[in-house]
Amino acid sequence: MAFEGLTSRLQNVFSKLRGKGKVSEEDVTEAMREVRLALLEADVNFKVVKEFVAKVKEKAIGKDVMDSFTPGMVIIDIVNKELTDLMGGSQSKLAKSSKPPTVIMMAGLQGAGKTTTTGKLAKLLQKQNSRPLLIAADIYRPAAIKQLQVLGEQINVPVFSLGDQTSPVEIAKQGLQHAKDNQHDYVIIDTAGRLHVDAELMEELKQIHSETNPDEVLLVVDAMTGQDAVNVAESFNQQLELTGVVLTKLDGDTRGGAALSVKAVTGCPIKFAALGEKIDALEPFHPERMASRILGMGDMLSLIEKAQSNIDTEKAKEMERKMRNAEFTFEDFLEQMDQVKKLGPIDQLMDMIPGMGKMKQTKDLKVDEKQMGRIEAIVHSMTTHEKQQPDIINHNRRKRIAAGSGTSVAEVNRLIKQFDEMRRVMKQFSDMMGGPKGGKNKA
Ligand code: GDP
Repeated sequence: MAFEGLTSRLQNVFSKLRGKGKVSEEDVTEAMREVRLALLEADVNFKVVKEFVAKVKEKAIGKDVMDSFTPGMVIIDIVNKELTDLMGGSQSKLAKSSKPPTVIMMAGLQGAGKTTTTGKLAKLLQKQNSRPLLIAADIYRPAAIKQLQVLGEQINVPVFSLGDQTSPVEIAKQGLQHAKDNQHDYVIIDTAGRLHVDAELMEELKQIHSETNPDEVLLVVDAMTGQDAVNVAESFNQQLELTGVVLTKLDGDTRGGAALSVKAVTGCPIKFAALGEKIDALEPFHPERMASRILGMGDMLSLIEKAQSNIDTEKAKEMERKMRNAEFTFEDFLEQMDQVKKLGPIDQLMDMIPGMGKMKQTKDLKVDEKQMGRIEAIVHSMTTHEKQQPDIINHNRRKRIAAGSGTSVAEVNRLIKQFDEMRRVMKQFSDMMGGPKGGKNKA
């Protein structure tokens, strides 16, 4: 996951300060030196680092950190605010034209993730009840059109294409007309990329721009390329007047420099962040939430939003009722796992819970997808009767389940023990809350 190195280095700096009741000016200077190194190591642009550290230091000294009894907290607060500002302050929303369709032009170098992001953005808009149309204007990269068509089919969004023999400008023009004729409210144009920024590419993009007069020109950059991503953004911005940047591959182990530098260097806000290859791995970019994640303070707001848009509330209520009544079975357990999986990779979810990122680093907490897969295999190997009445699972049945799921009896034992424990705690909790509610009283 991105930023891991930066997060742990910053946390070290702050924990040193937290250990002190009072700090001196030298302590602040020393802490700032370490923050500076941490940012440089995370591949943040050096000018950006210099200004950042100067600002934090000025505020830290001006804010009487030295008089505070919780100097560590005061500094974290200052760093948090400055990191947020560095990434644009507040969320920069996607434009919406008062005269639909809103035209979004996607640009970027080959391999940055432009076509994938085009599909993801369409999916996001569709979730907001919009009717986007995709235009396949990348006629150079082999299979780019096909890739967009496959994505479109996957999410049920139409793709306008005239093959690879018509000019991209003409495709964009006709595509736009098609969108108007068919009452699409958004149009997303997937343009061609190149391996490097070149004059021919820019010329073509400029022509598409003047033909379609887009409301948004989004540059897709690969966060893994660090400062190169920032340089690419700068050159595109000089020629094309970008309205926003989409940072992709933030799920990888990028050091984070691009996210922290791109707004400061180009003046262009980051509008979206992509955290995976799957079609729903695109999020609106919230600077304050990202700052909080970088500082290891989690991002509960994003987690709650994810849950709200993905979890079936009726099922959740039913599950809660079952838990209260200690009627929870292995079938419910599987269903619960499915719901959690809808939210995204466990690893990313953990980073959103305050403090979890740090626990994960200590490796005490091992909840990985592989392990989840094994647990699922065990439950799937149970008969319906066993899933509903776990108490009947005796030794012979455990042996059969282990063989059926390709796991060991020890693993099956562990899962059943954990499950029993979970039910016991639920029962206790339910009793504490005044006994079962809304269901049969089994007591
Ligand atoms: P394009 O040439 O810019 O259109 O790039 P593509 O959309 O074809 O993406 C290039 C590769 O990057 C593909 O293998 C994508 O699956 C992958 N990719 C795109 N976005 C992400 C992301 O956010 N995370 C990860 N891990 N991979 C991504």
